[in-house]
Amino acid sequence: MTRDPDCIFCKIVAGEIPSFKLYEDADTFAFMDINPVNDGHALVIPKEHAESLYATSGSALAATVLTAKRVAVAVDRALAPSGLNLVQANGPGAAQSVMHVHVHVVPRRFDDATLLNWRLEPGDMDAIAATAERIRVAMD
Ligand code: 5GP
Ligand code: ZN
Repeated sequence: MTRDPDCIFCKIVAGEIPSFKLYEDADTFAFMDINPVNDGHALVIPKEHAESLYATSGSALAATVLTAKRVAVAVDRALAPSGLNLVQANGPGAAQSVMHVHVHVVPRRFDDATLLNWRLEPGDMDAIAATAERIRVAMD
């Protein structure tokens, strides 16, 4: 499994940086975003390090998309949002800030006024932990 010792998401996969983990299998890892744009904002990544979609192997990407669907279904069950966006950024022009490919799972509300170029605002850790537990419980 390729890993970059300086990559924050590789460190999360390795348990060197803590996270609110939702799910893990041999190829993928899902956890809560600590700067949530909306309650329930989660991230899904392949364990194999690749900077962006362009460098990601097909098998890693397929596994990541399947895990993103599992997380999305659990978020829908747990939080009953009005809708949900999967967002995936590649490169600084798309506002990619962490150079390990990832899919955002973003629950939406009709009145949330969320824009796709959101700013990073630290979340409340207790609230994130509580929401993570609700999603974990709802996951197959
Ligand atoms: P990007 O801007 O690259 O599309 O998304 C990267 C995401 O990673 C951001 O939404 C940011 O909040 C999240 N993020 C950055 N550092 C950490 C971290 O240490 N832990 C977690 N859980 N999320 C992080
Ligand atoms: Zn990485």
